[in-house]
Amino acid sequence: MDSIIYKSSNGSFCETKCPYCEYYCTLPYGHPQMEHETSHGNMIQTVFSAVDDEFEYNGFTFNTGDRGSCFLCNMFCKDLGRHKHIDYCQSVDHTKCTGEGIQHISEKINPDPDLPKDFLKHGLYWKRTGFKDPYNKEDQDLFSKCDALCCGDEHQIKATQAASSTGGSNTITPAKSYCELPLFHAPLPGGSVPPNGGVGYVSVDGHYFKCQNPAMVGSDFHIIFVIDRSGSMTTTDCKPLPNTPVERQLRSTHNNRLGAVYDAVYRFVETRQSTLRSRAVGGAASASPSNSNDTVSMVLFDDKVVTAFANKTLVGFSGMVSEMQKHLPRGGTSFGVGIKQATDICVQHHDPKRYDMALTEFSSSVPAYESTEFMSLHSLQSTRDYIPVRWRMHR
Ligand SMILES: [Zn+2]
Ligand SMILES: [Zn+2]
Ligand SMILES: [Zn+2]
Ligand SMILES: [Zn+2]
Ligand SMILES: [Zn+2]
Ligand SMILES: [Zn+2]
Repeated sequence: MDSIIYKSSNGSFCETKCPYCEYYCTLPYGHPQMEHETSHGNMIQTVFSAVDDEFEYNGFTFNTGDRGSCFLCNMFCKDLGRHKHIDYCQSVDHTKCTGEGIQHISEKINPDPDLPKDFLKHGLYWKRTGFKDPYNKEDQDLFSKCDALCCGDEHQIKATQAASSTGGSNTITPAKSYCELPLFHAPLPGGSVPPNGGVGYVSVDGHYFKCQNPAMVGSDFHIIFVIDRSGSMTTTDCKPLPNTPVERQLRSTHNNRLGAVYDAVYRFVETRQSTLRSRAVGGAASASPSNSNDTVSMVLFDDKVVTAFANKTLVGFSGMVSEMQKHLPRGGTSFGVGIKQATDICVQHHDPKRYDMALTEFSSSVPAYESTEFMSLHSLQSTRDYIPVRWRMHR
């Protein structure tokens, strides 16, 4: 065995062994470095554990209790991508088990189901060995991110039509969409707005994904933007984002908060359009963006209210930015008239095959979420058909 050559028969090499592969440290005896180092070998001392008794690794199926002997210590994690490790719990009182990089597992899992176990961040797992983490910085950064995946249909493997006609069995492997937050993050409030004004959605269980909310894919929507265009929206602390197709057009008339809101509306509609396009490519039954029934409306309020557009077909709505640009900031803030107008539009264009969704942007003044007007909007339709969304600009 290779590792024999590192044995300190002459007392010149460190005698510490990697607990997973049993390779000896290759540094001199009594080395000043805090961390031991070695080239690592097969994980003969590693036994697999997993929450599900069976799990897959690189196309092979393993059971808990199987040995890791056929894998190399310094290669194994790379193929896992984002992952967490499992180790025996070290807390005296398991009910109070906490710590940086640790998440206590409440279920009993194999092997030794009666011994409590923890999920560990990759970094901590290696720190406990006393050996230097054998993976590079890029890998380590990836391993420290949350491993939750978006369950949206567009990320699932689908056999292609083309493949079956040629007798092949090609499959499309769409990109997975991982949570953007660090591993073991505290869950965000389910369904809240994405952090830092980002795109995407927060799942019911509190993970943040940059892709489209699966709850919104495959349904048709009437999206109603309810926008504050009062005088304070001339403030220039927010502006349209740079380097977008509409930046120049918007900045020519609205280089201010209202322009930033219009820009966000434009990006929201773009995202929705591209979702509808990918839904069409993905081969769903009603698979053309042109037969989507999505429509979009916009209500602008100050102390008065105006409808910029109502129930416009979302796909191919090319003049939206020009329509919005006709309206400059003015007047005071009367939240109620905006909500009243949105409610009227909602009733007037209600289609039972569609979800009505009001996106209400509070920029300058922030009325209470529980205001009576907002609550009336909530109760307008049965809760299943109506999704009021509080949509807040971040600065
Ligand atoms: Zn050493
Ligand atoms: Zn090792
Ligand atoms: Zn624990
Ligand atoms: Zn690892
Ligand atoms: Zn997704
Ligand atoms: Zn997460």
